[in-house]
Amino acid sequence: MLQRVAKACEASRRDPSSVTLVAASKNQPVAALLEMFDLGQKEFGENRLQEALPKIAALPTDVTWHFIGRLQSNKARKAADAFDVIQTLESKAQLREIDKSCKVVDGLIEVNIADEFQKNGLSVDYVDEFLQEVLNSTHVHFRGLMTVGPALDDPEKMRMYFRRLRELGERLGSQWLSMGMSGDFDVAIQEGATHVRVGTALFGPRPQ
Ligand SMILES: *Cc1c(COP(=O)(O)O)cnc(C)c1O
Repeated sequence: MLQRVAKACEASRRDPSSVTLVAASKNQPVAALLEMFDLGQKEFGENRLQEALPKIAALPTDVTWHFIGRLQSNKARKAADAFDVIQTLESKAQLREIDKSCKVVDGLIEVNIADEFQKNGLSVDYVDEFLQEVLNSTHVHFRGLMTVGPALDDPEKMRMYFRRLRELGERLGSQWLSMGMSGDFDVAIQEGATHVRVGTALFGPRPQ
């Protein structure tokens, strides 16, 4: 896995330390996370608050927790209390709740980069306006952009979407770009990802 990251960095002349591997651990039992932790993995991404809380309690405290699932605004304050990074900001209602948290979180705006119907994240057209809201939030430290992107059969077909996110991020002063999953993170790294969210390529198939 780390070799694949290193290869993609080499191919794009990037320093491997500029890419953070976030282990997407949804549906994985605590034991699987602990095993990864013992191998040196320190950043984990979880999709659901209820599932994540016991895992956060069970793992050592020097883990960085990323929230990567759809975040209902009524759970946003608790998510901010428990997580270090919220990657899926998309509404003012979320920000209002996060601002009630007892701490400050790093935040990424989730972008629906291919403008897919009924997909999470904001359409590109709304990102500028929402960024102002994020910058006004007292408990979010804006870091950049995140996208999931369309599920396509060929990672090469993702390149244009990753590039589009990078260009948008450059225009908005984004430090972090969270893009790329098991099937396409090599291409995402070549296009400038600073965070790749990898599940099955790391843990094997997800228990249902
Ligand atoms: C599950 C998930 C991933 C990881 O997917 P894999 O294909 O297993 O690597 C990445 N990002 C998000 C938002 C996810 O929900």
